Formats: sequence, C-alpha cells, structure tokens
Amino acid sequence: ETGSGVFNVAVVGSGAAGFYTTSKLLDLRENINVDIFEIIPAPYGLVRYGVAPDHPEVKVCINKFETIGTDPRVRYFGNVGIGNDKDVSVNHLRSLYDVVVLSQGTSRGRVLNIPGEEGILIAGNKMQVGGIHSGRDFVNFYNGYPDSQNLFNEDFLSRGTTGKALLFGVGNVSLDVARILLSDVDSLSKTDITERALEMLSTSTIDHVDIFGRRGSLQSSFTTKELRELLKLPRVKFDFDYTEFDRELGTEYAKQLMSKSRQLKRKMDLIKQYQSSRVASSPAERLSDAIKDTKSKKEKSWSLKFFTSPTSVEFNSQKTSQIIKLVKNRLDTDSVSSKRLVKIQGSEFFEEFDVAFKSIGYESTPIDDVPFDSQKKIIPNVSGRVYDPSTDSILKGLYVSGWAKTGPTGVLANTMQDAYETAFAINADIQSVLDSQSSTPLNKPISEISEVLLEDGIFKKCIDFSQWLKIKDHELNSGNKAGKLAEKVTDINEMLEIAKS
Ligand code: FAD
Repeated sequence: ETGSGVFNVAVVGSGAAGFYTTSKLLDLRENINVDIFEIIPAPYGLVRYGVAPDHPEVKVCINKFETIGTDPRVRYFGNVGIGNDKDVSVNHLRSLYDVVVLSQGTSRGRVLNIPGEEGILIAGNKMQVGGIHSGRDFVNFYNGYPDSQNLFNEDFLSRGTTGKALLFGVGNVSLDVARILLSDVDSLSKTDITERALEMLSTSTIDHVDIFGRRGSLQSSFTTKELRELLKLPRVKFDFDYTEFDRELGTEYAKQLMSKSRQLKRKMDLIKQYQSSRVASSPAERLSDAIKDTKSKKEKSWSLKFFTSPTSVEFNSQKTSQIIKLVKNRLDTDSVSSKRLVKIQGSEFFEEFDVAFKSIGYESTPIDDVPFDSQKKIIPNVSGRVYDPSTDSILKGLYVSGWAKTGPTGVLANTMQDAYETAFAINADIQSVLDSQSSTPLNKPISEISEVLLEDGIFKKCIDFSQWLKIKDHELNSGNKAGKLAEKVTDINEMLEIAKS
C-alpha cells in the first residue's frame, strides 16, 4: 500500500508547546494534517491559566495560536484527554497517526515534605485550611482554571491576624503570586482575573509578603524583568536586609559566577540599586512620601529571605494564625562546581503568619507506558525524539515538546525554541521516510482516522476550534459588560453548553 502521501500528526496538549510545534510543522511541510487533543475544552494551557492576569502583553502569542487553530490543516479536539485512564490511549493514537507529539506539560506542583504542610483538609478533602498551600492551585484559582474554583474560600486572605503571607520558592511564579497579593485591586480589576479572585483580594488583610529561598540570591531563578516589576509596584516597599546579601556577593564564588553570566550580574545589580535609590532620596522626599502614604492607602511591603528552609508548620493555640519553624542554611562552595546545602545547627527560628504558598517547581507525571525519567520528571528524548533507555532506542513516530521535554524551566521564548527543535526533528524524520523506499509509513487518509475517532465517540465529546471561539466571544462579552478584559467561564459544563449552543 502506498499511503496517502499526507502525513498525519497528533499533538497531545494545546499549550504553547503544542501550538508552536504545530506552527513550525505547518511552515515546514505543505502535506501535513495536525490534530490537537486537549483535555479541557479551553486551549493554550499555561498561557491562559498560568501567566498572570496583569501580563496581557505575554499572552499576545494567543493571536498566533488562533491563526494556527483556524488553519484548514489543523483540527482541534477540546475536552479530549489522552491516556489509558482518559479518552484515548497513547498507543491508540500511535496506531492511527504517523507522528504523535506529547506536549502535555506538567500536571502538579512539587511539595516541601514537612510536617503540617497539608494543613487541615475540609469539604470532602477538597479544601485545605492552614499549612502551606500549593502556589499552582492559587495561580489556577485566580486564572479561572475549572478544577480550582472551590479550593479557596472568599475570606481566605482576610482570616488571619498578622497580615503576613509567606512564599517558598524564588522563581517567577512566586514573584507573580507576590505581585497579585500586593497589587492595588483597582489595577487588577480591568484584567481577565476572575471576579471571585477580585472579591477575595479586595477584602485581603495581607500587607507583607516574605519570599524564602533555601539557597542564596545567586541561585534564585526569577528573572530581572519580574523582579523590576515587583520593585516598581506603587506604594509597595522592598524591605530587604542587605547584610547577608552583601556578604554573599562579596565572596570569590559570587564574583566568579557573575563574571560568567551578565544576566545574573544585572539581576544582582538591580537588587543593589534599590538600596542606593532609597538611601539617595532626600529627607524632604521621604517626608512627602510618608504624607502621601498616610493620605492614601497603607503602604505594603515585601522581602526576599535567602538561605532559609521551612521545617514544620502548625496553628497557634487560638487558631487565629500559624507558626512556622525555619532553619538557616549555608552553601558549601569549595569551588564553583561543588556546592552543597548545609543546615546551620542551632539557627532555628519561628515566624507567625496568615497564609503560605509554595512554588518550588511544576512536575510532569508519566503518561501510559511512555518512557519516563522519574529523577528529572521528564520524558527522555534526543532533540525531541522519545528515547527508551531500557532498550537504548528511539521510539519511532513518538516525540515530545514543551515542559514534558525540558522540565519546568524558562519562559515562553524558550518553550517556542524548544518546540521548533522537535518540529525540525519530525520534519527530518518524515523526509528520511520519503527518501528511503524501505520504510512503510502509516499514511492513512485523514478520513479513515476520522472514522475511528467517530466510532470511539470522540466527535460527540469534543469541541472544535470554532466552538472554542464561541466560548471566547462569550468571555469577552461578559468581560465587556463588567468593564474588564474578559470574564472566564470556569465551569466545564457551562463551557460545553456555550460551545454547543
Ligand atoms: P502547558 O502550557 O502546561 O500545556 C500543556 C497542555 O496540555 C495544557 O493545555 C493541558 O491541559 C494539556 N494536557 C495535559 N495533560 C493532557 C492529556 N493527558 N491529554 C490532553 N491534554 C493534556 N512565561 C513567560 O514567558 N512569561 C510569563 O509571564 C510566564 N508566566 C508563567 C506563570 C506561571 C504560573 C507558569 C507556571 C509559567 C509561566 N510562564 C511564563 C512559562 C510558560 O507558561 C511555559 O514556558 C509554557 O507555557 C510551557 O508550555 P507547555 O505547552 O509545555 O505546557
């Protein structure tokens, strides 16, 4: 059998990785069909549900994704999960398509594993009270992710008595959460943040946020751009203790690291500059600042606290706030290559706080019997070609892109570059199949694939891209009425109703 000559690709997940892989494949090959499978009705993954609502400029890539979604060579299957325990297994897809690309991203947040972290579970174990909440859950909540709307009560940020929130993890997600907690609610109200989140934030009593990192400022992974944004928040003071920071930066190790990375140096300079800019302001300026502060809203503050790890957490005796036990760490840096984290004996101390979140990394989980590196929590691969270490071989026709390939690092620009690498690998492999007569690609006509998907009940269950656009219009209209960018539909059944109406 000669096949149709058109290659069919299934992409699992419609996040940035899924769309960027698709986009490059469409550029590289005329004769290609791409079917994108997405577990929830709405596309775009973390671009829609991760990126903060006050970062609309980051989400402009959605315009490009929309063009791809409406390309006649692309079909969107929203509300269809891939996996043995879901709607279609990976092996079933592999039996239908010439190429399967796994772009399902990450599915959970890492935990600290300390006593008391889980707090008390109520409402059928769905809602956590106290402990250290998942930053991922909170981000999902304010961004309107369907499963996350009942994880927090409206008074979540106004129940405590200390006014203090603690964040663990020094990446961009922590800085996002800090910014959302400290921002003026009026400035957020025009974005696509959910109404529920706005209500919670408008009654929030949190006025100070501490961000803890177990290692030093040199190992922090937030970017200069995010740091600058937080430093520039109106009426929010950076209340940082420079003593330890100056000591850290004075070491030979620090100098070596900074001489190797201009990016790192720029970030450290920004922290330093803040100190000098505050010292430089004249007494008159400071007085006028103070008058402004008392006239308008109360000044809020935040800080970075490095070399500190939490060890346990519990409620205070009246259950009005919580107490966390922390310990100071030291980084053994004999040379740049060897660094070991050591707890400093006797350095334990306690802090009282209202709410705490951890954002110490997102994690992927295994999908079906696809090889999985349980250490790195990624699908092992060579330039995007899935690799099976147990047989030391590349799995034909199976690829990976995005955070499932790289782990949860970098920004969208990195995810794009990495997705392109996978697309180039796919294109090269397709070309070598075409060049060598011996290989026998599946090359099923797309109509045959459609028949199987119809029999499997997929067409009944899914929403296509034009139906997604109906949901999008609905969100824009309700947003418009409320004087904001969009009001997201947070209920899957409601999404399906709008799509099928
Ligand atoms: P995802 O976006 O997670 O996409 C995976 C998709 O697969 C999802 O739609 C998911 O629903 C779907 N899926 C999962 N499992 C299945 C399954 N079994 N079957 C079918 N579909 C499935 N980058 C920036 O440049 N700027 C920012 O401001 C920024 N902010 C961020 C904020 C947060 C909180 C986070 C976590 C990340 C942020 N990033 C930001 C990074 C950026 O979001 C990532 O680089 C990028 O989105 C990763 O894309 P991905 O496609 O691999 O994963």
